[in-house]
Amino acid sequence: MSLKNRANAQAYVRYPVANIVFYNGVTVFHYLLGAIGIILGYRFSPAAWAFGALYLAFALLQMYLVMPLTVCPHCIYFRTADSLCPSGLNVIAQKIAQPGHPHDFGQRAKGWFCHNNLYIAALIIPIIAMLPALILNFSYLLLILLLAVVGLLLLRFLVIFTKTACVHCLAKNECPNAQSMGLSQT
Ligand code: SF4
Repeated sequence: MSLKNRANAQAYVRYPVANIVFYNGVTVFHYLLGAIGIILGYRFSPAAWAFGALYLAFALLQMYLVMPLTVCPHCIYFRTADSLCPSGLNVIAQKIAQPGHPHDFGQRAKGWFCHNNLYIAALIIPIIAMLPALILNFSYLLLILLLAVVGLLLLRFLVIFTKTACVHCLAKNECPNAQSMGLSQT
């Protein structure tokens, strides 16, 4: 699909359940494999389990608590009746957060500790952690885990964002992520 066609792709008020399951399945699988890779890679250290558990807790919390509390309240899906966003998190956000302001949606990408940076950190921390672990404590299983996590990262950028999630998003014309990927009309 060309960039122009992506920008004009059909917008979904309610994403198909299959897209939402795919998005969350890939996300949770990424975090779980990342945590296992960290634990396996540093199993020579007594801190390996704590490091892996800490990473997993951070990754899940930034996605399933911080995002609904800080990003989703400003999103159009939060305010649209009977809607289902690409991750389905608007349903959680509507239960735990107060409505925000549409003009604050771009805040998700502003500042060192903005949610976008937390989101990216959760995706790349296990890759950064597993690389030195491969040198210190090589195993084929660790190598497979590293390749799997890199594959899931590529899947997210090359398929999820551009084909099943952002491309059909009602928020893509206000979203800095969609703008940076050339998926919006603005
Ligand atoms: S365009 Fe993508 S990142 Fe932005 S709100 Fe929609 S699904 Fe989320």
